[in-house]
Amino acid sequence: MSQKCIIVGMSHAGIHLATSLRQYGWQGEILMIGNEDILPYHRPPLSKTFLKKQSDTTLIYPESNFEKYQIQFRLSTSVDFIQIHNKSIELDSGEVINYDKLALCTGGRARKLNIRGSKLEGVHYLRDIRDAQKLREHLKYVKKVVIIGAGFIGLEIAAVLVEQGIEVTVVEANSRILSRNLDEAMSNYFMQLHAEHGVEIKTNIGIREIQGQHHVESVLCDDGSKFDADAVIIGIGVIPNVELALTAELEIENGIVVDKFACTSNIDIVAAGDCTFFPSNHLQRSVRLECLANAVDQAKTAAATLSGNSIPHSALPWFWSEQYDKRLQVAGVIDHYEQVIIRQSFANGGFSRLYFQGNVLKMAVCVNSAKDFIAAKQLIVQKTALDLNVVQTQSDLKKCVLKK
Ligand SMILES: Cc1cc2nc3c(=O)[nH]c(=O)nc-3n(C[C@H](O)[C@H](O)[C@H](O)COP(=O)(O)OP(=O)(O)OC[C@H]3O[C@@H](n4cnc5c(N)ncnc54)[C@H](O)[C@@H]3O)c2cc1C
Repeated sequence: MSQKCIIVGMSHAGIHLATSLRQYGWQGEILMIGNEDILPYHRPPLSKTFLKKQSDTTLIYPESNFEKYQIQFRLSTSVDFIQIHNKSIELDSGEVINYDKLALCTGGRARKLNIRGSKLEGVHYLRDIRDAQKLREHLKYVKKVVIIGAGFIGLEIAAVLVEQGIEVTVVEANSRILSRNLDEAMSNYFMQLHAEHGVEIKTNIGIREIQGQHHVESVLCDDGSKFDADAVIIGIGVIPNVELALTAELEIENGIVVDKFACTSNIDIVAAGDCTFFPSNHLQRSVRLECLANAVDQAKTAAATLSGNSIPHSALPWFWSEQYDKRLQVAGVIDHYEQVIIRQSFANGGFSRLYFQGNVLKMAVCVNSAKDFIAAKQLIVQKTALDLNVVQTQSDLKKCVLKK
C-alpha cells in the first residue's frame, strides 16, 4: 500500500525534502503544510536585494513544479500537535490527518527583545516575506534607523539602508560584531567597511528601552546614550521552532535532536534545516546551523532516509553574505586553528583568509574571491595537505596540494 509523507514547514528545507523524496523514488503521497501564505520562496534576498527594489520575492519553484512532482500543499495552515500513538497530526482548524512518515522542517523565528517600548509602532524584525514587505514600505518614510544587533542580517540591512541615504546606527551588546561566526580580524574588517560607508556601529552596549508615544522615537542604551530613530530593526538571533516536536516528546536540545541520517528520536519522524541540532562530522560535536546550504543538504539526507537509502549528512557547511559591493563566502566551521594565511590582491578588494590545522585547510573566509572559495571547499572536504610555503603566492589554490 502506498505510504503518505507529511512535511511540516514550506521553506528551503521542506521543499528540497519533498522534491528529493521523488528523486529517491518515493511513490506515495507527499503533503506539505506551511503556516505562511505563500509558496516556498528565497529567504536570503529579504535582507539584501528585496529591501532595495519594489519587485516581488522569487519562488524557489514555480507552482507547476508541485504538479510535476505530485506534491500537495496547504498554505496558511499551522500544524499544532503530533500524536505519535496513532501517527497523526492536528491542524489549527482541528482537522486530524494520518501519516506514515513525518518530516519537521519548522525552521526558526526571530528572537524577540522584551524591553519597554519593543512593541511600539516602527519596531521591526525580519524573518519572513511579510516582515520584509512591512519594513520596505516603512523605509520610504524614514530618515534615521537604529539596528539592534550586529549579526549578518542587521549588517546586511545597514548596508542597504545607508546606500539609500538613511542615517544608520547599529548597537551591539558584544565587544565585537559578527562574533558568532567570524574571528576578530574579520570583525574589524566589517567594522571598517561600514564606517567607510557612514554606518555608526556601537559595540559593548546593551539597550535599556525603546522610547516613543505610539511610534518609536529613540533608543536609550544602558550607558545612558540615546539615538533618535524613525524605525528600529531588531536582529538579535533566531530561535528554533521546536514547539511542535515537543508535543511528540521528541528529544530537544538547541533544536530538534537528529542523528546523521536526520532521524529524530522517533523512528517515523525526520527533521531538517534551521530547527535541528545535529552531529557535525566537521566539528566532531552537535550543532545547530542557520544557513541555507545546510538546510538543503540535510533535507536531502532526510529524504534519502525516508525512502530507505541511508546516506549520512556530511556536507561541508558554508554560507554567504552580501554587504555593499562585498560578497563574503565562508566554507567550513572550526573551533580551533593553528595558523591563518591571507591571500590578497584579487580584483575589487578581494582576499581570502585560510585557517589551517597543521597543513590541512579547515575553514576559508573569502571576500570577493569566489575562485578561492570554490577551491577551498574542495580542499577542506578532501582534507588534503597543502604546501604552506606557496599558499600566498600560487594563483590557483588547488595547485598548492603537496605531491605524495
Ligand atoms: C533575512 C534573512 C537573510 C538570510 N540570508 C542568508 C544568507 O545570505 N546565506 C545563508 O546561508 N542563509 C541566510 N539566511 C538563513 C536561511 O534563510 C535559512 O537557513 C533557511 O531559510 C532555513 O530554511 P528552513 O526551511 O530550515 O527554515 P525556515 O526558512 O525558517 O522555514 C520554516 C518554515 O516552517 C514554517 N513553520 C514553522 N512551524 C510550523 C508549523 N507548526 N506549522 C506549519 N508551518 C510551520 C515557518 O513559518 C517557515 O515558513 C537568511 C535568513 C533570513 C531570515
